[in-house]
Amino acid sequence: MARPLVAEINLAALRHNYQLALNQSPTSTALAVVKANAYGHGAVEVALALVHLAPAFAVACIEEAEQLRAAGITQPIVLIEGFFEASELPTIITQNYQPLLHSQWQVEQLVNYLANVCNADQPMLGTGLELWLKVDTGMHRLGFTSEEAAKVYQQLKALPVINKITLTSHLACADDLTNSVTKDQLQQLQALQQQLDCPISIANSPATLGWPAAQQGYLRPGIMLYGASPFSASHALADQLQPVMTLKSKLISVKTLAANESVGYGARFTTTEPTPIGVVACGYGDGYPRQALEGTPIKVNGIICKLAGRVSMDMLTVDLTNCPEAQVGDEVILWGEGLAVNEVASHCETISYTLLTCLLPRVKRIYLNKPRA
Ligand SMILES: *Cc1c(COP(=O)(O)O)cnc(C)c1O
Repeated sequence: MARPLVAEINLAALRHNYQLALNQSPTSTALAVVKANAYGHGAVEVALALVHLAPAFAVACIEEAEQLRAAGITQPIVLIEGFFEASELPTIITQNYQPLLHSQWQVEQLVNYLANVCNADQPMLGTGLELWLKVDTGMHRLGFTSEEAAKVYQQLKALPVINKITLTSHLACADDLTNSVTKDQLQQLQALQQQLDCPISIANSPATLGWPAAQQGYLRPGIMLYGASPFSASHALADQLQPVMTLKSKLISVKTLAANESVGYGARFTTTEPTPIGVVACGYGDGYPRQALEGTPIKVNGIICKLAGRVSMDMLTVDLTNCPEAQVGDEVILWGEGLAVNEVASHCETISYTLLTCLLPRVKRIYLNKPRA
């Protein structure tokens, strides 16, 4: 028998979540953000499942874009950190990738490159180039100030090979629906949009679900596609998301410890009474967080039980007091169906994003509800 740990990826839930994003704004469209191996779900399988719905995909770098092209994805692919060196430009142009420009050095390299290509009279620019221009409206990570962006925009717009420039910005606090930073960021981008009369893109998942004023142009949902709420509190729309990944394993050992016995490394957990303890085939060597606190919820046979003791590399231990009938071979759910990844993350001093993206390749992904070929 194989090690029982698997990640089931429900592609019907993925499509449902994408549709929920689209439904928020009939006049918008939504890029599917599939960076970081589609938040751990498998970029190729996820993109193929959305190929008839999403007009474009977004990834962090050209290597991630190449994976999608190699799998037969023909849509435009937005590179949301742009290019890292000029040597990427020929591929970007021939493969119809849409680079984001966030810094002056990128503008200079692109302008130089295009000047050389145009001189050489090459036909590869026949369809033109679409660009994304990043405006720093308050995140203070990447991007131009509004004044700089306006200048760069005019400079690039004057080049005949560039046929579309989308202004984009990233929201720092959109998951907090009371935070006024989001309004300021939106106003800045909208002011620039009016000045330049061009398309914009600002809505990440929390804005797609919770900030109607941001729902314009291209939405950029990421985490919500995978069925995790971007909010910490319950939220009417986010509660309609369906979990895509269910991390499943089995009990590989069950024993009852006497009172005052401890479990695992560092003897962190000690029983106060006779206690059934199960061992689950799943550990930090699979990407389950080692920082999981005592009592982190784990579902055994559909019943919530508690992590007991430190997570090991290949195993973790669970207090089966709530599920005393449990036996070797019984099903364990670490997160997903009926146990929100957010709930688990909140016991691990982290967020759903890290749990999903840090799931290691060692865990076999099993795809359910694939689209018919
Ligand atoms: C990752 C990312 C997104 C998606 O963010 P979520 O919070 O996962 O929806 C959108 N835009 C940019 C620029 C990103 O880097």
